[in-house]
Amino acid sequence: MAEPKTLSTTAAGPAAPNEVVPPSATGGLTQATIVKKTAPKTAYKPADVSPQRRVQRSFAVRLWSVRHSRALEWFYARFADAFLKLHPLWKGIGYARVEAPVKFVEKRVKGFMFDCRMCGQCVLSSTGMSCPMNCPKQLRNGPCGGVRANGNCEVEPDMPCVWVKAWEGSRHMVHGDRILDVQKPVDQSLRETSAWLRVTALAAAEKEAAKAS
Ligand code: SF4
Repeated sequence: MAEPKTLSTTAAGPAAPNEVVPPSATGGLTQATIVKKTAPKTAYKPADVSPQRRVQRSFAVRLWSVRHSRALEWFYARFADAFLKLHPLWKGIGYARVEAPVKFVEKRVKGFMFDCRMCGQCVLSSTGMSCPMNCPKQLRNGPCGGVRANGNCEVEPDMPCVWVKAWEGSRHMVHGDRILDVQKPVDQSLRETSAWLRVTALAAAEKEAAKAS
């Protein structure tokens, strides 16, 4: 259940700063409604109601990916193995040099399939193939308290909550219980970098360390 909002205006008049006013005291008005109502009227009105509707196509593909999470999990495991086998090649050319072309491909492929935002620390394998960066609050460890009764997002009413979808997707996966792992906060300095190369270099380093010990 969402917490009561802090409003600057109530039906009875201005509220004291930081005073918590329950929605019932404002005739059901939320802060978002007040902001919308007081916004200046201009000639341009977007054709659809929400940003998510406006990108409906990628939204539909994203949901397809969640429905096929098991097949994608299988495919990704093989893809990661193949990428790891190519580690000597990446190392020979230089990870820094291959970054641009790999990132170019990664961004387009994952952008199309998952609506990827290139956070650089991919957790799709732990989140039922539902990218948590599509959550308007970008929560990485489960949903907020505002999920609607129909399973949609409180911020984007047309969009199914990415965490509801993550749970559904995870139930189809072999390693679906990874959804219970606690994720670290996003390291913003890794935005727009390749998660594929990062995971490969890390796996290669672990393999070399295991061999040396
Ligand atoms: S978790 Fe990050 S890298 Fe993975 S799909 Fe989402 S934004 Fe892209």
